[in-house]
Amino acid sequence: MKKGIHPEYKKAVVRCACGNTFETGSIKEELKVEICSQCHPFYTGKQKLQTKGGRIEKFKKKYGID
Ligand SMILES: [Zn+2]
Repeated sequence: MKKGIHPEYKKAVVRCACGNTFETGSIKEELKVEICSQCHPFYTGKQKLQTKGGRIEKFKKKYGID
């Protein structure tokens, strides 16, 4: 294996617009998101889903959250 090809995978602090913070694994040390598992209607169930599927997966892809 050659060195320097893969970025280092480390613990990242994710800060959400709602004020919630949580940790995840990422190549970045800090991530900022507009929505998280604490305020997303998909997780909280407080609101009805306005869009079906795809959105969360795109969100995870965008921020490298798995
Ligand atoms: Zn949030």
